[in-house]
Amino acid sequence: LAEVLEHEQDLPSRTPDGHDVPLMVNTGLAVDAVASLKSRIGGVGLYRTEVPFMIAERFPGEQEQTRLYRDQLESFAPLPVVMRTLDIGGDKDLPYFPIEEANPFLGWRGIRVTLDHPEVLMVQLRAMLRASQGLDNLQVLLPMITNVDEVDDTLKLLDRAIVELGEEGVQVGRPRVGVMLEVPATLYQLGALSRRVDFFSVGSNDLTQYLLAVDRNNPRVADLYDSCHPAVISAMSRLAAETEALAMPTSVCGELAGDPAGALLLMGMGFNALSMNAPSLPRVRAAIRRVPRSDARALVEETLALESPVEVRQHLAQRLEEWQ
Ligand code: PEP
Ligand code: MG
Repeated sequence: LAEVLEHEQDLPSRTPDGHDVPLMVNTGLAVDAVASLKSRIGGVGLYRTEVPFMIAERFPGEQEQTRLYRDQLESFAPLPVVMRTLDIGGDKDLPYFPIEEANPFLGWRGIRVTLDHPEVLMVQLRAMLRASQGLDNLQVLLPMITNVDEVDDTLKLLDRAIVELGEEGVQVGRPRVGVMLEVPATLYQLGALSRRVDFFSVGSNDLTQYLLAVDRNNPRVADLYDSCHPAVISAMSRLAAETEALAMPTSVCGELAGDPAGALLLMGMGFNALSMNAPSLPRVRAAIRRVPRSDARALVEETLALESPVEVRQHLAQRLEEWQ
């Protein structure tokens, strides 16, 4: 599947047997470059709001954030833009908000930080809501959720932000809200989570790191970090089946979705959409356009029977070659 045809990039991401797999993009900065792809994508599956925060010199204020978010929402409207609340901590530090910990990936990260600083989260939610005025494409995504109380607490803040803005004369509706599935505990709470939010997005990068207990950035254990580990594949496959049974729209926004073999596996498992960095789109689209969904389903079954990460990788590489 090395060959990617340029004209094909304007064609739908549809399998030869007629199954559509919406492709979304992950964004952070540089809206303009990605916005030119608007006709080729289903929207923004993950806008990492921490990226503009990381290059700022202090927390951007409500007005400044509103401008940033408006830019994203307008550039892609009417397509959906999934904005993730600030996901700092772990490997993502703000120069003006240093977090020093022995185990940062198990520590103060994502929603844990922003729920401890509701004033930061409130400004961000207000700015997102303000930016969405008159558009109908904002979706809000919560990172590093570990339990349902975090979801409930965040929803209360969101509702408060909507009321506050209403009192200030800014009328906005409640956007769709989703939870990142990236902490393994969430895989066992899908029902409880699904009763609270509208969609799920699987963070395969962190899910891999936490399932395998391997720091995703530590070169000493880089060989062990592998989203093709059979345990990860098995977890993802169950996740797809269970979220489908719950009728919860579930997409994948980690790196696995941007890898052609990974994308075929995820499509075979039944995930609703794949979100990736823009440069991955051509090869993933080419793979989807060449492989029937029935074959992708068979690929999942074959892969689930394998026992080692190396075997999985070899098998996927061999299959991809056959599909050239
Ligand atoms: C993930 O964890 O897979 C993800 C998409 O989020 P991030 O890489 O920003 O942690
Ligand atoms: Mg993550």
